[in-house]
Amino acid sequence: MSPGCSAYEGTIESQSTDYGIAPDSIELRASPHRKNLTINGTKRGVASNTAVHELLECPVCMKVMYPPIQQCPNGHTLCSKCQLKIRCCPICRHELGNIRCLALERVAESLELPCKYQVVGCQDIFPYHGRLRHEQNCRFRPYNCPYAGAECHVSGDIPFLMAHLKSDHKVDMHDGSTFNHRYVKSNPQDVENATWMLTVFNCYGYQFCLHFEAFNLGTAPVYMAFIRFMGDDHDARKFTYTLEVGAHGRKLTWQGIPRSIRDSHTKVRDSMDGLIIQRNIALFFSGGNKQELKLKVAGRIWKEEA
Ligand SMILES: [Zn+2]
Ligand SMILES: [Zn+2]
Ligand SMILES: [Zn+2]
Ligand SMILES: [Zn+2]
Repeated sequence: MSPGCSAYEGTIESQSTDYGIAPDSIELRASPHRKNLTINGTKRGVASNTAVHELLECPVCMKVMYPPIQQCPNGHTLCSKCQLKIRCCPICRHELGNIRCLALERVAESLELPCKYQVVGCQDIFPYHGRLRHEQNCRFRPYNCPYAGAECHVSGDIPFLMAHLKSDHKVDMHDGSTFNHRYVKSNPQDVENATWMLTVFNCYGYQFCLHFEAFNLGTAPVYMAFIRFMGDDHDARKFTYTLEVGAHGRKLTWQGIPRSIRDSHTKVRDSMDGLIIQRNIALFFSGGNKQELKLKVAGRIWKEEA
């Protein structure tokens, strides 16, 4: 053991926050290999490869290692991310150099691995390299927090996000598929500091986010309302919604399909997939002296029968 190697140095990223994705080059390198897998039918080999699977787990971060896999001078392996953060081997405490473990990399390429979201329900098994691409799009991957008012980096499954919206963002929650929501703002001239609101509706066993916000569309200030679905795109498409705003015998109506919260709030807004109200119309609907925005947005969500 070398001197000064009695402790880890630096900090290790926690496992739950890092959904890092490997660079494309790794995917490309894998493609000729996938053919072999199909020909040889390696699915049979999966169970007997448990020992190799364990070898592929980095002893520091516990994640599956991808090339370049590193090793200490005594042959203990670890992932390259962790190798950058610690100076000594986590097993034998020998000082780490920059030694690559090509043999394990080659063995790894012949493996099939379960998706890392297996614990939350994904049953799929993938060739070593193809697994990363799948995990980027796995339907069991965590959702980002749908709250739009500030940068929020919380992610998790829907029940977790519901609890988070309630306790950390103090979001309004309602039960039911019809609603009548009033938006009041005392200074409607001010759209620079994006005004937004999020309300969550609970119906049909799912949750829907009603977004309302003011922003500049080009140079024109507008208000926009739209609904996002707390779930994946496939389930979102089973629903339809309408939004209505009006007064004095005029009415604007929007009918749409809720967008999955996989699509970011800004993406949905920028695609204008919702009810858009020009400011002069909004002020007209507000009545009064145009000093105050007072909009009543009514809506309904329903399930399309297949
Ligand atoms: Zn590691
Ligand atoms: Zn070692
Ligand atoms: Zn998966
Ligand atoms: Zn949040």
